[in-house]
Amino acid sequence: MPSKCSTKCLNQTHKVFFDSRSVPRAFWENGDEDVTIKILFCGVCHSDLHVAKNEWGFTNYPVVPGHEMVGTVMKVGSDVKKFKVGERVGVGVIVGSCKKCESCQQDLENYCPQTIFTYNSHYTDGTKTYGGYSDMIVVDERYVLRFPDNLPSEGGAPLLCAGITVYSPMKYYGMTEPGKHLGVAGLGGLGHVAVKMGKAFGLKVTVISSSPKKETEAIERLGADSFLVTSDPAKMKAALGTMDYIIDTVSAVHPLLPLLSLLKLNGKLVTVGLPDKPLELPIFPLVLGRKLVGGSDIGGMKETQEMLDFCAKHGITADVEVIRMDYINTAMERLAKSDVRYRFVIDVASSLSQ
Ligand code: NAP
Ligand code: ZN
Repeated sequence: MPSKCSTKCLNQTHKVFFDSRSVPRAFWENGDEDVTIKILFCGVCHSDLHVAKNEWGFTNYPVVPGHEMVGTVMKVGSDVKKFKVGERVGVGVIVGSCKKCESCQQDLENYCPQTIFTYNSHYTDGTKTYGGYSDMIVVDERYVLRFPDNLPSEGGAPLLCAGITVYSPMKYYGMTEPGKHLGVAGLGGLGHVAVKMGKAFGLKVTVISSSPKKETEAIERLGADSFLVTSDPAKMKAALGTMDYIIDTVSAVHPLLPLLSLLKLNGKLVTVGLPDKPLELPIFPLVLGRKLVGGSDIGGMKETQEMLDFCAKHGITADVEVIRMDYINTAMERLAKSDVRYRFVIDVASSLSQ
């Protein structure tokens, strides 16, 4: 995409094109392999908040967050094969990679050393990427997803990050065997989708939460089998050694010992949350229980498409609070306090029509 950008392009996102009289035109620069997308909805991931507040220490302001987009194709480049104008599509966390390395060749673009993230990243020519809190984006077709017809745009948008982030480790680490017991630590955007996926895989699912108020919803609305509050020592003790797998989505620094203690022999703890400081890893329970601790980062494009199709088949969507763009600062404050049921999604179109 960057190599196609006109010298008259005044916006580093390659989004806005001005003609010779410097009058904005409704025209977005689009390379041969690019898809121009009008964004309809964009989810608000906790990573957006980490980056907006520079909690990871590598934010390069100005930043336009957003990596859970659903939109409509407005234009395709001459070499685009997968998409047509008018189709509904999705864009997630990455918009580029080298396409040549071992990871890219194995459909693991998310682990390419040259991954280009949807925002707070750079294209190969050095220009910055800006994300989905916006009305349009231009993306190389390799990083665009078909959006299944029966998935609603609002509830489906968060699958582009939250969905694939929990689906990929469940598949890779073999956490899908029906009848096994999955613990989901942190009932937020990622966690609530993990509960639904766990149930779709036929697992027994227990939510492990710091918020006692989420119990009824976790069981009655999201379909979890049971609920543990980490601050309840009696219940935590009763659950020791009962889980086969735990997926840890907690966004803040937290102790791993209580989670490792919930695992059975050979249990697996996979962490996907990205707190701003390192977690302490207790070695004794790992060694004595032959337990495994792993990590996982979103998923490749092929697997993301597989995940969307899986969700469409099983009727899995995120539970969302649809907001207008002008609510985003309040939404971020509420997200920081775990006060969202369970994903904010920006309705971009209605935000623009006053
Ligand atoms: P979220 O909606 O804010 O959910 C995080 C949950 O963590 C909260 O709902 C809360 O659950 C729990 N939590 C928060 N603060 C806590 C604390 N101080 N102590 C204990 N529990 C706490 O966030 P999200 O969008 O799901 O993202 C979760 C994390 O995953 C973030 O760090 C994000 O950056 C990361 N992430 C990673 C990837 C990846 O590819 N690996 C992709 C996307 C996001 P309870 O109220 O139930 O305790
Ligand atoms: Zn995300």
